[in-house]
Amino acid sequence: MAEHDTRIWPPTEDTLPLGLGPAEWAASPTEDSATQRQPGLLLVDDDPFMLGMQSRMLRSMGYSKIGTAGSAEAALALVLAGRAAVDVVVCDLNMPDVDGIEFLRRLGDSGFAGNVILLSGEGPRIIHAVQKLLAGRRLRILGALEKPAGRAALRALLDRWHPLAPAQATDEARVPACTADELHAARQGEQWVLHYQPKVDLQTGALTGTEALLRWNHPEHGLVYPDRFIGLAEDCGAIDALTGWVLGAALAQLSRWHQQGLLIQMAVNVSMENLRAPCFARKVGALVRHSCLSPQDLTLEVTESRVMALAPEPLETLVRLRMQRFGLSIDDFGTGHSSLAQLRDVPFTELKIDRGFVHGARQNPLIRPMLEGSIGMAQRLGLQTVAEGVETEDDWALLRELGCDIAQGFFIGQPMPGEQLHAWLTDWQARRPRESAT
Ligand code: C2E
Ligand code: MG
Ligand code: MG
Repeated sequence: MAEHDTRIWPPTEDTLPLGLGPAEWAASPTEDSATQRQPGLLLVDDDPFMLGMQSRMLRSMGYSKIGTAGSAEAALALVLAGRAAVDVVVCDLNMPDVDGIEFLRRLGDSGFAGNVILLSGEGPRIIHAVQKLLAGRRLRILGALEKPAGRAALRALLDRWHPLAPAQATDEARVPACTADELHAARQGEQWVLHYQPKVDLQTGALTGTEALLRWNHPEHGLVYPDRFIGLAEDCGAIDALTGWVLGAALAQLSRWHQQGLLIQMAVNVSMENLRAPCFARKVGALVRHSCLSPQDLTLEVTESRVMALAPEPLETLVRLRMQRFGLSIDDFGTGHSSLAQLRDVPFTELKIDRGFVHGARQNPLIRPMLEGSIGMAQRLGLQTVAEGVETEDDWALLRELGCDIAQGFFIGQPMPGEQLHAWLTDWQARRPRESAT
C-alpha cells in the first residue's frame, strides 16, 4: 500500500492518533459525562489542510474524540480493525484512488453500523444521488454539507447522533415473509383491517376525505403493512378478492360517516391487476349503489408504476369508471417513468404528488422546482392536486403558497382506525395552522 494511503494526518496533539486502541476512545474516569456522551469522530479527507482545519474547528466546538485519516484505505483499515470506536465518519466525497462513494460502499459492506456526514464541494444533485445510493445500508446518513462546512451546520448534524440509538433493523429483518397460504388464511380468519388517513383542504383546513389503507393483523407478527403483501396478492391471484373486501369495508365506513353527518369522500387504492378484469367497473358501480353512495364519493388511486404497463383492458376499465363519474387519481406521481404519458392518456381527475417531492421541499433546491412544476401542470390540466407526505407545518405552508388543493401526511394525521376519526377531527380543528382557520 502506498505510504500516503495509510498515513494518519495530522499527527498533532489536537487530534487523536488513530493508531491507538479502543481504550483511548473510551471515557477515562476523569472525563465528565458530557465528554462521555460525545461521538467518536473520524474525519476522512485527502487534503491535509482541510483535515487540520476541520479537526481544529470541531475541537473548538467541544468535541474531543477526533481521529483523522488521509485516505479511504486508511480509514477502512482502521474501522475494520476495530482499533477505534468510530461513531460518526465525516467523509470527503472527492478523494483520489478510492473515492468517497466506493469508500462508503465498502464501509457499508463491512457491517459498520455508525453514522456518516458527507462533506463535499459537489453540488446538491450529486450529494442527493449519493444519499440515495446509500439508502438501505446500515450506515445512517446524518446529512450532507457543502465544503467548507460551517460550525452551526456541522453542529446541527452532529446533534442528530444519539449514543443510545439502536442499530436500525433492516426491512428484511423487521418484516415476515408472507406466503399465498397465509394470505388465504388471513381472508378466512378475517385478519384484514383498514386504517383511514385524513385528507384536508389546504385553504380552509377542512376535512375533505380519507384514504383507506390496508393492514394485515397477523396473529404472530402484528400489523403487517401493504408493501409486504400486495405484490404477493397480485402474483397469486388473491388481489381481486382483497380489493373487493377493501372496497366493501371502506364504503360501509363511508356510509356510516355520511349517516353521522360527516359528508366526506373516500379514496381506495386499486391494483393494475384489478383493472384488467372486464367486470371491475360494473362491480364497483354496483357496490356504490348498494351502499347508497354516489360515484363522486369515491376516488380510485392507481399507482403510477403499475399504470405504466398500460394495456387496452386497464385503460378501458379506467375510462368506464370515469364515465360513471368516479374520481381517478394518479398516485405517487413522479416516481415512475411514464408519468406524462399516463397523464396524457388516462382521464385522471386528481394528481397525487409522491411524498419524495413534498417533505422538506422548501429547503431542497432539487425537489422544490419539481413540486412547483407538478402543481402548475396539474392546475393547467384542470386536475385536483393532492400532496402526500406532509410531515411538518413548513411543508403545509409551502403547499399552501404554491396553490396545492389537498394535503395528506403525518402533520395532519396518521392512518387510524375509523372509529378514531371524530376524535382526530376535534384535535385537528384545535391545532390546524391558524391562517387556514375559517
Ligand atoms: P400510498 O397509496 O401512496 O399510501 C400512502 C402511504 O404513505 C401509506 O403507507 C401511508 O401510511 C404513508 N404515509 C402517509 N403519510 C405519510 C407521511 O407524512 N410520511 C410518510 N413517510 N409516509 C406517509 P402504507 O399504508 O404502508 O401503504 C403503502 C402503499 O401500499 C400505499 O401507498 C398503496 O400503494 C398500497 N396500498 C395500501 N392499501 C392498499 C390496498 O387496499 N390495495 C392496494 N392495491 N394497495 C394498497
Ligand atoms: Mg394511495
Ligand atoms: Mg401515494
